[in-house]
Amino acid sequence: MSVSVTAYDDLMAFQRETEALAQVMGRLGWDQETVMPRGAAQQRAEEMGALEGVLHRRRTDPRIGDWLAGIDAGALDDVGRAQLRHIRRSYQRATRLPDTLSAELARITSRAQGIWAEARAAGDVAHFLPTLAEVVRLKREEAAALAQGGDLYDALLDDYEPGATAAGLGAMFDRMRPRLVELRERVMGAATPPAALHGTFPAAGQMAVAHQIATHFGYDWRHGRLDHSVHPFTSGSGADVRITTRVDEAEPLGCLYSTLHEVGHGAYEQGIAPDYALSPLGNGVSMGVHESQSRIYENQLGRSRAFCGWLHGRMADTFGDAGAVGADAFYGAVNRVHAGYIRTEADEVHYNLHIMLRFDLERALIAGTLEVADLEEAWNTRFAHDFGVAVDTPAHGVLQDVHWSVGLFGYFPTYTLGNVYAGCLNLALRAAVPTLDADLARGDAGPATAWLRENVQRHGGLYEPAEVIERACGFAPHEGPLLDYLDAKFGALYGV
Ligand code: ZN
Repeated sequence: MSVSVTAYDDLMAFQRETEALAQVMGRLGWDQETVMPRGAAQQRAEEMGALEGVLHRRRTDPRIGDWLAGIDAGALDDVGRAQLRHIRRSYQRATRLPDTLSAELARITSRAQGIWAEARAAGDVAHFLPTLAEVVRLKREEAAALAQGGDLYDALLDDYEPGATAAGLGAMFDRMRPRLVELRERVMGAATPPAALHGTFPAAGQMAVAHQIATHFGYDWRHGRLDHSVHPFTSGSGADVRITTRVDEAEPLGCLYSTLHEVGHGAYEQGIAPDYALSPLGNGVSMGVHESQSRIYENQLGRSRAFCGWLHGRMADTFGDAGAVGADAFYGAVNRVHAGYIRTEADEVHYNLHIMLRFDLERALIAGTLEVADLEEAWNTRFAHDFGVAVDTPAHGVLQDVHWSVGLFGYFPTYTLGNVYAGCLNLALRAAVPTLDADLARGDAGPATAWLRENVQRHGGLYEPAEVIERACGFAPHEGPLLDYLDAKFGALYGV
């Protein structure tokens, strides 16, 4: 055996143990959000802090550098080279950050989250701003250490969406925004908009329908489970991929479509080739590609007229008249466009406008062209322009999202990138599976899931994010298919 092969095997064995520990960390996080006793919070923070220390030491272990230097990449196959690409990128990021900066960021952001929650509850922006200014200062330092002379925002974005650039995303969003604002104005001016569902929908019934939806979309219960949490999420990869949802007895669609969204994330992780488990290729490749799976399940498939017909039948079986008379009215309620302040409650027409607002503001904060002191005014001005209403209270405006308080800068744009990717995949999927609507009308999402598994999910981290979408679609991803889909769908539904 050559020296380089030994180095590769040693590196991969070390990496496998790190990935296993990272899975344990994820399981602790899942437990914290679902079943952990309330009184355990402080001890859990210490447990996770200790494990984080172990993970940090492993990720910055100098032996990784030695192994990487000793490997002849030319002797490896595509899979081996892709593994090295991930390991090298993560090692570089981890070792470029001074330990003192990482510790300072961890300390400030854990405090900032509490202060943000207080400020939001009190509607007091000024209470949060000094701490946010600290977070921004540290994120700029972090970005500078990572960027090594390159663009600061790109360095942060790279953690969530390798290969994407702020300039590229910004140009794409600028092309999308006028069309979305125009569609929003048309739809909101419609003479007879669809009505919302009315009634009471017992929690047990909602969870039963949620289980059916997950099953019909191919979620593997032998390697997963569905639980309750305040904010729905997906946790884990490989043989243990768990999802959560939330229940509101007055509003069942939140539970059902949150479930389907998380089923998309979960199906991606469950669909990755088993050979890649506990290796760098064994996770979804980026936040944008991850969100493409959750969004296509939730929106292009789950909110289609065909699938809504089947789902309306299950709702009627479970809840009687299902709060809407007939499948068409149910489809209208599922896709109802409503003015609102809150990103997480936004419909498909408004959602990306929320993201573009945040992207432009956080990019300016990191570039230093917007001061934290001017953030609220910038938010409110932009919101009034794009949404046609004035923000009424900071909890509905600049204080609504947790992201900035915990230092997540560069994360927001991956939501819209995921929607753009979902639009592209939907176009390719419909061309490849001409029976799609007939299948969905029977509640059969099997052919859709099979196509996504074959063309996207099974690859895990094998290809770069944009590359996996391009290989699946046969064209370079762009915003056109998403905008055309939104125009056609909401134009028809609202008669505008
Ligand atoms: Zn998601």
